[in-house]
Amino acid sequence: MLVDTHAHINFPDYNKDLKEVISRAVAEGVEYLVEVGTDVPSSKRVLKLAQEFPLIYASVGIHPHGATPSTEKDWQEIKALARGHKVVAIGETGLDYHYNYSTKEDQQRLFERHIELALELDLPLIIHNREATEDCLDILKKFSGRPLKGTFHCFSGSKETAKECLGMGLYISFAGPVTFPNANRLREVVKTVPVERLLLETDSPFLSPQPRRGRRNEPAYLRYVLPTFAQLYGLSEDDIARITTFNAIGLFGLGNGQKNQNGRIAYKIRNSLYLNITNRCPNSCSFCPREDSPYVKGHYLGLDPDPDKEPSAREVIDSIEDMGDVGGYDEVVFCGYGEPTERLGVIKTVAKFLREKGAKKIRLNTNGQGDLINGRPISRELDGLIDSIYISLNSANSEEYKALCSPKYGDSAHSAILNFARTAGETFPEVTLSVVGVPGLDTEACRQIARKLGVGFRIRSYNNLG
Ligand code: SF4
Repeated sequence: MLVDTHAHINFPDYNKDLKEVISRAVAEGVEYLVEVGTDVPSSKRVLKLAQEFPLIYASVGIHPHGATPSTEKDWQEIKALARGHKVVAIGETGLDYHYNYSTKEDQQRLFERHIELALELDLPLIIHNREATEDCLDILKKFSGRPLKGTFHCFSGSKETAKECLGMGLYISFAGPVTFPNANRLREVVKTVPVERLLLETDSPFLSPQPRRGRRNEPAYLRYVLPTFAQLYGLSEDDIARITTFNAIGLFGLGNGQKNQNGRIAYKIRNSLYLNITNRCPNSCSFCPREDSPYVKGHYLGLDPDPDKEPSAREVIDSIEDMGDVGGYDEVVFCGYGEPTERLGVIKTVAKFLREKGAKKIRLNTNGQGDLINGRPISRELDGLIDSIYISLNSANSEEYKALCSPKYGDSAHSAILNFARTAGETFPEVTLSVVGVPGLDTEACRQIARKLGVGFRIRSYNNLG
């Protein structure tokens, strides 16, 4: 499943084989394609394509190159087209000072009109920026405080510019150049963009990725960028495809939008199988992403908050069986969007099943408050069932912990975590204390606690689950 968020297959380059191009895209897993207009005639063609092909959605606008020659009548036509069926974005708009086919003043004026239109229609912008970063950001900043959304297409800017764009809530999209052998600087920029804000695009017919470089691009070639992104993010190609598809569907409202299907129980990230057995947790951590969204790496993890309606051990096992041979995964992790030890009985039953089925490694990710939750020490009950435990320590003392995690158990929480870590260290082959890299946190003091307990230590990146 892939989304090409920026293509121009309405251009004459595809006159002879448009249907074949679309068939090849579908065959390569392109589920949706945002086809982007650059002037009035191409915006009309884009809308026509969207009517003809279910996978195509339309974006209408006037490219900055056309800012000076375009007329008021053209703009009024774009405004009317923007209200058309399957129009999901405004653009391609922005600034291009490389060729200066239009004056800077005209480009800036037209860009602002596009932004106003996008805000009026509550649609995302598709922004083009070439050698005009400062002016582009300055114009966008004029609209700060308003619900602006959109994407910087074919991003080629610096890490600092990426940070500014992300700070404005925008997505960032990269095209084929990310695969070029000499594009190390661009690949370093990619690494600074959270995968949750990443989009893929081809910009067809331009910018074909390796190994098609120099030839006409087409949406099917989106697959050639997947290995690069997988490597840069330390994820699998499937993960990148699923996450960026999820991002694109959310931004552009493609298809039926992000359907709130039943929450996933067993889900795959990289070659690990994760188990989501509860959404309940005695904490309310300030950094917990579940407060904002029930999605992790493109997986919907929303479960019924009613404990009686959470998945039973049988349902968890059924869900695992649906994911194929457990022995084929590097590890199986009790994690999900809540504290797994809220459901100790389910963990024990499922872990036994996983053992019998030859799981290579079974890990528990916990906030370390399982003893408090269950009203008894739990380490020994998991002995032989769990190989590895990650415990979120999150701070070096109780006061800091309470401020950061608002634990239901108040003052008792932090000492319970330390106690659990101690007994876990004596029980399980691999125990790791972790902290989230929240600014201002004394990670060194946390590291010392782990060292004294004789367990491992790691710093998790802020706002990054899975
Ligand atoms: S302990 Fe984990 S699941 Fe619970 S609120 Fe904190 S981050 Fe979220």
